[in-house]
Amino acid sequence: MAEVRTCPVCGGSDFSDLFTAPDHLVTGESFRIAKCCGCGLVVTADPPEENDIGRYYVSDDYISHSDKKQNLTELFYHLARKFMLGRKFRLARRATGKSIGTIVDIGSGTGYFASFMQQKGWNVTGVEINDRAREFSAAKFGIRTLNPSAVNDLGDASADCVTLWHVLEHLYEPEKWMGEIRRILADDGRCIIALPNIESSDAQWFGENWAALDVPRHLWHFSPDTLLHLAEEHGFACEAIRPLPLDLFYIAALSYRNRGRQLALLRGIVTGLFLAVVNLFRSNKASSLIYVISKQKT
Ligand SMILES: [Zn+2]
Repeated sequence: MAEVRTCPVCGGSDFSDLFTAPDHLVTGESFRIAKCCGCGLVVTADPPEENDIGRYYVSDDYISHSDKKQNLTELFYHLARKFMLGRKFRLARRATGKSIGTIVDIGSGTGYFASFMQQKGWNVTGVEINDRAREFSAAKFGIRTLNPSAVNDLGDASADCVTLWHVLEHLYEPEKWMGEIRRILADDGRCIIALPNIESSDAQWFGENWAALDVPRHLWHFSPDTLLHLAEEHGFACEAIRPLPLDLFYIAALSYRNRGRQLALLRGIVTGLFLAVVNLFRSNKASSLIYVISKQKT
């Protein structure tokens, strides 16, 4: 086990423990959740070493990397993904003000979003650490996909849009990536970051069983304040924050399954509807948020 010693947002080194959360998906091991005393960033305090994290991703359940539709939850997930691809495309188009352009999708996984953008005429590069996912996206969709170690190959100010869909929370050095994103983003470009929201009403509802804690794969548990703090440290300004409403239902269903409850999907939908109504005028309490950021003028 490693120990988070330095906060990637503020550089602080004091953390206070909050609670312990189990890895529901793969190992059943428990991890400490702690909060930076300097900036409030919530972290997985004792994550695996980076060279050991791979085994925590080995799961038939890790459906964002798979194509299965075996049960109702997965079918629901795949239908939602189809809906979300269109929404992500429209968001990228609106955020950049361009109907076609150059996009870098960091953490491109199996390449569904990258492929969707390519079909819409965008010049797409994926960045993905998982060899199998990279090969899958190249073979199935013909996506140019780089290993993260080759991200230097991307030119300065070459991207109109950089996207990280539920990726930043997995990265061991988010502060280095923010610097890299600033380098490759065009001066009038937009970076879109989607993240679970540790201050969401469902995070409070489910506590240690909140599925979007997803320890130890999620190393950082951002809130609007801590993400915008990180962005500002790297010379970005916030253009918009938007809720990702469908994530709530999926996360709630998985959270009920984590608690060992029957009818987890049904319970997830009912709780999701309740919380969606509660959050109608409090979008910063949404389960997941999308941040659109731009380079501050220097
Ligand atoms: Zn901090």
